Amino acid sequence: MSYLYDHRFLADEMELYFFEEMVGAGLPMWLPNGVYIREALEKFIKDKEFKSQYQRVSSPQLARAELYQLSGHLKWYKDDMYPEMKWPEDHSSYYLRPMNCPHHHKIFSSVPRSYRELPLRLAEYGQVYRFEASGALRGLSRVRGLCQNDGHIYIDPEKAKDEILKVLQLHESCYKSLGLVGYHYRLSKHDSNNVSELEGSLENWLISENILRECLIEMNLDFYEEAGEAAFYGPKIDIQMKFYNENQSNKEESISSIQLDFLSPERFDLEFINSLQQKIRPWIIHRAPLGSHERFIALLLEYFDGQLPGWLSPVQLLLIPVNKSSYELAQKIQEMLMAEGVRIKIDNRSASLGKRIALGRKLRPFSFAVIGDKEINSEKFKIQFRDCDEIVPYSELLGNMKAKLLIPL
Ligand SMILES: [Zn+2]
Repeated sequence: MSYLYDHRFLADEMELYFFEEMVGAGLPMWLPNGVYIREALEKFIKDKEFKSQYQRVSSPQLARAELYQLSGHLKWYKDDMYPEMKWPEDHSSYYLRPMNCPHHHKIFSSVPRSYRELPLRLAEYGQVYRFEASGALRGLSRVRGLCQNDGHIYIDPEKAKDEILKVLQLHESCYKSLGLVGYHYRLSKHDSNNVSELEGSLENWLISENILRECLIEMNLDFYEEAGEAAFYGPKIDIQMKFYNENQSNKEESISSIQLDFLSPERFDLEFINSLQQKIRPWIIHRAPLGSHERFIALLLEYFDGQLPGWLSPVQLLLIPVNKSSYELAQKIQEMLMAEGVRIKIDNRSASLGKRIALGRKLRPFSFAVIGDKEINSEKFKIQFRDCDEIVPYSELLGNMKAKLLIPL
């Protein structure tokens, strides 16, 4: 954790994404190196979610206005949404989705639900669009198009605490594997000076805030409370983390949140049948341990100064051959390691060796090796990792790399 650089500078050098005027401000165009990071993160969390019994769904990136009237987004969130798209043929209008929740609620209510199915955990890496003011846009940390590690859990309100504890455990397990420290939990509560504007009963707000508080205490997590920071549909726990900033202040921003929602089930008329054959309103937990790809990758870049853990590095081994025969050997190594999922890049440009090494370092590879006649003859390679050099025989290359690229548990 050192925050030496702005992620915009790092991402540029690492060739992760760019913005294109004709595509639009705040709409990142991801390059192959950036997509490697996105996909490694997805694989990582999808595996954890599968083991935690989440089921994956997929839903469209837009919906009719009626859906957002029902959800309350057109009342509470319209200023942050892209404008209406009218469709004269069927007298309807559509909006790009600012959140995935309404689609998931409709998946919940698409069939009758029994208590036996709960908690029902639906997950989707969902693309959403939010019309941030142009002055607020900043690299990947403030964008207008983002892809969220989203999930909604439909629960029996009586069991809310058990499930929030499981969600907090999932968050903790992710951040531990990623090696993140120094973040704080914030209990974001309703604004007690504005109780008349609250949707739903004050009693429910207080009950759900208390459930979140009890879970934070039970998990022994470092947290503080802040009034007026709740979502419009309920209180939440925000995970606050420092980003790079020029003034080196300690201001923190949210990377992720866990929301307890007792209002949307009312709006969407959601229900399940309990063991006594009675209709009961579920509650919903909204959660996104890895937030959005955009903001989370910005955070990781700044946190690690671009030196991402090996399993996340877009270039895991950079090979720099010095002549034609060493280029052939580099290609052979590339073929062998890529067949096993290791990300290899060969820099075969005509620039001098010194220049290629300098350019290669900008990509922040996990490791790199120069290959010349000595390596061809000895079949041994000096692999330069970030904190040490190792001489590795050809026959051990694959095993050596794979062992270093494992995701910490
Ligand atoms: Zn949601």
